Amino acid sequence: MTAASPGPDIRAAIAALEAEIAGACARAARPAGEVAVVAVTKGHPAERARDALAAGLADLGESRAQELAPKARALAAERPGPGEAPRWHFIGHLQRNKVREVVPLISCLHSLDSQRLLRAIEREHGRLRESRGGAASPLPCYLQVNVAGDPAKHGVAPGELEPLLEAALASEAVVVLGLMTVAPEGDPESARPHFRALARLAREHGLTGLSMGMTDDYRVAVEEGATLVRIGRALLGERATGAG
Ligand SMILES: *Cc1c(COP(=O)(O)O)cnc(C)c1O
Repeated sequence: MTAASPGPDIRAAIAALEAEIAGACARAARPAGEVAVVAVTKGHPAERARDALAAGLADLGESRAQELAPKARALAAERPGPGEAPRWHFIGHLQRNKVREVVPLISCLHSLDSQRLLRAIEREHGRLRESRGGAASPLPCYLQVNVAGDPAKHGVAPGELEPLLEAALASEAVVVLGLMTVAPEGDPESARPHFRALARLAREHGLTGLSMGMTDDYRVAVEEGATLVRIGRALLGERATGAG
């Protein structure tokens, strides 16, 4: 597929997704239009990310540094104008030794999950500030919570959220947008208590952003209050490579 044909399949998928999100908002008596979509391009080549952008998806998600960096560079090289650039969201576990590579490329981190990672982001923020002559905006972040206590998932335990949140709120290097979780695999209805628990935690801490819901469970997530869903397969089809 070329840049000249931005993919009618993606446009149709966006329309279908928006209708589903509107339906879920209606079922939950939520106002329509308060759910943002991040299109997850992991496992797809840079051309597919370019098609997503051309179809109107400006927020793109990646979960691995080694996949994000070449795609972000490829699209940046073609689209130097700031208005046309995608906003990259990092949605996977961020290793501290990848902070220097990833942070300058992204608009939002969905997986802040430890004070050690926060400290590494602060060091990178300081370095960027110096190299940019005193100006570096803080990185918008979601704190990832492992509400289900799933050993296969990253995120702080709900009981450990408080100290991490306090440290992040006090930090000049990040802005806390809210909480994020990845529900265990399984039938979407089984994710509901986890989404509900994340929404309750956010409320208790005065946070409004909720990054929750993927292709299989986003309807339930929106019913439970998601303000942002991270959607790969429902927008871009099956992944060519098994990106985690
Ligand atoms: C891959 C991934 C998604 C998107 O998954 P789909 O099932 O393709 O929608 C969302 N969030 C995270 C953290 C992911 O790793």
